[in-house]
Amino acid sequence: MRKKLVAGNWKMHGSLQQNAALLERIKAAMSGLTCDVAVCPPYPYLGQVQSILAGSVVTWGAQSVSEHAAGAFTGEVAASMLVEFGCRYVLVGHSERRALFGETDEVVAAKFAAAQKIGLIPVLCVGETLAEREAGMTAAVVTRQLSAVLNRSGVAAMASAVVAYEPVWAIGTGVTASPVQAQEVHAVIRARVGALDVVVANGLRILYGGSVKPQNASELFGQADIDGGLIGGAALVADDFLAICQAAN
Ligand code: PEP
Repeated sequence: MRKKLVAGNWKMHGSLQQNAALLERIKAAMSGLTCDVAVCPPYPYLGQVQSILAGSVVTWGAQSVSEHAAGAFTGEVAASMLVEFGCRYVLVGHSERRALFGETDEVVAAKFAAAQKIGLIPVLCVGETLAEREAGMTAAVVTRQLSAVLNRSGVAAMASAVVAYEPVWAIGTGVTASPVQAQEVHAVIRARVGALDVVVANGLRILYGGSVKPQNASELFGQADIDGGLIGGAALVADDFLAICQAAN
């Protein structure tokens, strides 16, 4: 049985004051929850998150990481730095990174490897655009994105990673993939990994992301291959985020 994970991607939102209020609410609501919970704030707030969440069951991560270990890469953040701030997870290949910052499958695979090398759990985001879905390419796109990582790091790497299926057309749009649509793609992802190693595939947590709300979370999380959620907008509202965590319970 895979333990569900609900992770909040705050994107480029927050302030010291807002974060403190949100984190205190989340921290105080953890008793009785059986799922894992994580938050991914912008880099400058990792120290604040680390100090507020110290000793709590809530874990945290970053939204991206450099593929390089150190060096002359102005503006970049190394995996070792994230570890110093207590990060457990790091998102790699979020569709906004792919679309807005030109991250290719190969760059994403390099970031995945750099994160894992230092002990972080990469959350590999994959997903198709609306045009790709309409062209019947969903499975091919998601498989290509996943394969770039499998080819570089091997299937064993998936034993200490998380995958997030995030259809681009559902992110921040208010349009959610139906539970059936999401389950279909999650099954494709698990089968791709399962073709290489059934045990690793069965243990792999595959999150769904894209306009998850308290109203649709239970049905999504009830699907056989959906092991929790990567939450954007709703992760900034304590009541909504906590209701989604409850739905994963
Ligand atoms: C995301 O940014 O990863 C995301 C899923 O956003 P939203 O929940 O707002 O669609």
